[in-house]
Amino acid sequence: MTVVSARSSSIDLIGNTPLVLLQGPSEAAGCEIWGKCEFANPGASVKDRAALWILRDAIESGALQPGGTIVEGTAGNTGIGLALVANAYGFRTIIVMPETQSREKMDTLRALGAELVLVPAAPFSNPGHFVHTSRRLAEETEGAVWANQFDNIANRRAHIESTAPEIWEQMEGRIDGFTCAAGTGGTIAGVGLGLKAFDESIQIALTDPHGAALYSYFTHGELKAEGTSVAEGIGQGRITANLDGAPIDTAFRVSDEEGLEWVRRLLAEEGLALGLSSGINVAGAVELGRKLVAEGREDPRVVTILCDTGFRYLSTLYNRQWLESKGLPVFPWL
Ligand code: PMP
Repeated sequence: MTVVSARSSSIDLIGNTPLVLLQGPSEAAGCEIWGKCEFANPGASVKDRAALWILRDAIESGALQPGGTIVEGTAGNTGIGLALVANAYGFRTIIVMPETQSREKMDTLRALGAELVLVPAAPFSNPGHFVHTSRRLAEETEGAVWANQFDNIANRRAHIESTAPEIWEQMEGRIDGFTCAAGTGGTIAGVGLGLKAFDESIQIALTDPHGAALYSYFTHGELKAEGTSVAEGIGQGRITANLDGAPIDTAFRVSDEEGLEWVRRLLAEEGLALGLSSGINVAGAVELGRKLVAEGREDPRVVTILCDTGFRYLSTLYNRQWLESKGLPVFPWL
């Protein structure tokens, strides 16, 4: 048994998350599929890392001064990460989010002390979109800095400098493929760049939900979205600064039904309570594993991200009425 050392600051609890071998997905792929347990971060998601790197960057550049405020537009997890890290450093947090996000995320943000501004869901081209609203609010608030997670590459640096080296070390340098979906693209681009620096032959795959434009972009060069998805936190329609130059070798498209089936199986068979982006990532990892096997790689090993905790979705993914209202299959025990 490995003994995890004591940490001298709450900030040091971010990262160094465990990696777990996923049994069902490995059987389905015919090779090892590993999940990086990002739900084990203090804010229970992968976004704690981006929040920490963005805040530190703002402090180091002098943009954020004592008593200052960090403002962000976020579907929730980045806000939760920012609120915790800002509390630890003594800053105020203002979060702008679409009112369509899960109730748990809003309650959580309020509970953590963030000031919450809810706006109607709108397309990115609309000035009322939560991202534009958050930028304006930062400009209008004295001593405030806009986190700008989509186009601030301190986000992907978090994954180049922490997630990728952790995965490389945990896999003892034996890894053949990595995949995950993109929200800001920080995770896929940062882990991709970081892993390629260790070994150029590691295949990096983008796993896209329906309703996002990146699958079409990375397979035939055109940003084009088809269908819809209920997955929160993923599904991008443009090349963000974080995605620019991401070393994507291949791309898959995964339906909500496929993703949900892995959420159900990972909970029922392996005791992991996850959100839908994790299920979609695992479906993509199984596809990548099969592809590597078909290409003749010997016993390939694939890693993906288990992005956040299922406890964040009790009123949605784990709620019979909600699933039925979306026409999605209901877990038999609900
Ligand atoms: N899954 C969830 C639940 C998220 O909140 C996010 C962040 N938007 C992601 C996946 C995607 O991460 P990234 O922003 O690094 O692409």
